[in-house]
Amino acid sequence: MDTISLKKYEAMLGELLAMLEAELEQSRVTAAPVALDGSMGRISRGDAMQVQQVALEVRRRREQRLVRTQSALQRVAKGTYGRCGRCQSAIGGERLDAFPDVVLCVRCASTPKR
Ligand SMILES: [Zn+2]
Repeated sequence: MDTISLKKYEAMLGELLAMLEAELEQSRVTAAPVALDGSMGRISRGDAMQVQQVALEVRRRREQRLVRTQSALQRVAKGTYGRCGRCQSAIGGERLDAFPDVVLCVRCASTPKR
């Protein structure tokens, strides 16, 4: 990958990282354990727990994406960014534009692990 593209994706990954960190910071309150004292107004404990489950799932996905983004930045530093993590072939620019943190090329992503 050429330096200009590399710089572009590095910037995109940096923004993505900052966004994910901000979102994780904000969701910390929602994902906190449900209070037992029942002082939640009209929302029942069951509803609150359901909301919490969804919040935790969203948070888990963001954390995974954060880790992927960090490892993508490491690949930028190592000079291996833009290569598929499985077959080593170059990942298409359009795919990287849409998901700069992507690990696999289209073909590997649609093929189950052997
Ligand atoms: Zn591949």
